[in-house]
Amino acid sequence: MIGNIYYVGSRGLASYLITTPAGHILINSNLKTSVPLIRESVEKLGFHFSDVKILLISHAHFDHDGGSAEVKKLTGAKYMVVDGDVDVVESGGKSDFQYGNDATLRYPATRVDRVLHDGDQVTLGDTVLTAHKTAGHTRGCTTWSLRVSEAGKSYDVVIVGSPNVNPGYKLVSNVRYPEIADDYARGFRVLKSLSCDVFLGAHGSYYDMEAKYAKLNSDGPNPYIDSAGYKNYVQEREQAFLAELQKQRAAAQKQ
Ligand SMILES: [Zn+2]
Repeated sequence: MIGNIYYVGSRGLASYLITTPAGHILINSNLKTSVPLIRESVEKLGFHFSDVKILLISHAHFDHDGGSAEVKKLTGAKYMVVDGDVDVVESGGKSDFQYGNDATLRYPATRVDRVLHDGDQVTLGDTVLTAHKTAGHTRGCTTWSLRVSEAGKSYDVVIVGSPNVNPGYKLVSNVRYPEIADDYARGFRVLKSLSCDVFLGAHGSYYDMEAKYAKLNSDGPNPYIDSAGYKNYVQEREQAFLAELQKQRAAAQKQ
């Protein structure tokens, strides 16, 4: 994509390989069934899957962390997860506030090797990633930032965890996650505070990955450099959150 960041996910589910001289970082293991495709993508790029030393996730939902047990088994990578998502990952999705009772959304429980907190850094070789807790979508939903260099210039990269309110999410009087609305609000403050040149996220659809990919090898600038697209996306998603919150508050008042 840019610098030492490679897309190794599927069309819909983003997975990023960040290469360094000391081994590689993988962000998102995707579905339980996705791992062979991720591995193949890594090897097609000329890297060894066994050189993945650190596994990170965008958030603890089955479509981003379901393959983590398999990735750990195949690579021996250290699994690093932000605090609010650790229980969920280690229970294979059972302790998720929304989907915990849905057995179809479970995945192999996976041990976390390092618990991260908001602002913590993950360093490998010459690459430093910062974990920004942007909770709400899950309790430990994480937006990653890092700096990359390409053609003598350096860029701020932001990999958005998820600012989305899923269908069925209760923002008001949520017994299992009382502070959910406050967490979303804080998450948007964090997203707005980040400097972003290169806009990436947990799903390619957040940043129009396919359209940008089609432009990648043309003569123009790298299409993933899209500071305005990032700002628009965050603003649009915040409006969607606020509208949903308003709607749920109004409905609660009528009861
Ligand atoms: Zn999700």
